[in-house]
Amino acid sequence: MRGDSADGMFEYYMTLNQYRVEASLARRLCDEAAPGLHWLQELGVEFPAQDLYASGVESIPPGHTARGNGAAIAAALEAEVHKRDIEVITRTRIEQLILDDSKRVRGIRSGSSVVKAGAVVITTGGFGANPYLLQQHYPDATRHGSAAWYIGNMNCVGDGLEIARQAGADIVGHNRGLLLTTPNFRKVLEVFVPGWLVYVNREGRRFVKETAEYAVMSGVVGA
Ligand SMILES: Cc1cc2nc3c(=O)[nH]c(=O)nc-3n(C[C@H](O)[C@H](O)[C@H](O)COP(=O)(O)OP(=O)(O)OC[C@H]3O[C@@H](n4cnc5c(N)ncnc54)[C@H](O)[C@@H]3O)c2cc1C
Repeated sequence: MRGDSADGMFEYYMTLNQYRVEASLARRLCDEAAPGLHWLQELGVEFPAQDLYASGVESIPPGHTARGNGAAIAAALEAEVHKRDIEVITRTRIEQLILDDSKRVRGIRSGSSVVKAGAVVITTGGFGANPYLLQQHYPDATRHGSAAWYIGNMNCVGDGLEIARQAGADIVGHNRGLLLTTPNFRKVLEVFVPGWLVYVNREGRRFVKETAEYAVMSGVVGA
């Protein structure tokens, strides 16, 4: 990342993603990254400066580790939710958006339960755990057969895409995603390849600097 600023982060993010992501969303992510961090600090989460880290793809270390790790962030957010008297319902799968006559979203449905709302934000994550949707929306991820696998929340089956599509939304971003290469045959996340590893193409020729940033590697190897 060139400089620790929203502009630097945006330039880096877009370049690393080959300008294949929605620029407006990336811009918002970059603009709100620092305010988001400060907000968590205001909620009491500590991010010790000595724990700053590079996740392997930046020239300066912008990664922040909370004292107490992710559990500390979750606890602070949960406390804030209780303070604001927000009702939380868990273990409930949202199945549909409720629309009014003019097709405006007015709530959600899960089984026979309906919750009315002035606004609905869909945060159901990705669709990596759904082989059918992967084939539909990210075919590059499926053409490697069992040599490619998904690591993540098994509930992320693309429900958000489906309920939005049913409500008339367009689905964009066909065949975009991040495939990571791993030197191992264990089905774990291991994106930083060891120094001894040499990648060769079908002709047996080395074709890439193996320690290239992982977003770069996935584009080169998956191509
Ligand atoms: C192994 C791994 C390592 C990662 N490392 C990093 C990292 O170092 N840095 C980084 O920035 N990112 C990292 N990521 C990516 C990061 O975790 C995700 O980008 C982020 O969690 C996405 O957040 P989200 O809220 O969009 O979705 P998620 O965190 O996936 O949350 C979606 C939630 O929606 C729920 N859900 C799904 N469908 C329904 C439904 N119909 N009704 C109700 N609930 C539903 C799911 O159960 C889930 O709890 C990593 C991801 C993985 C898998």
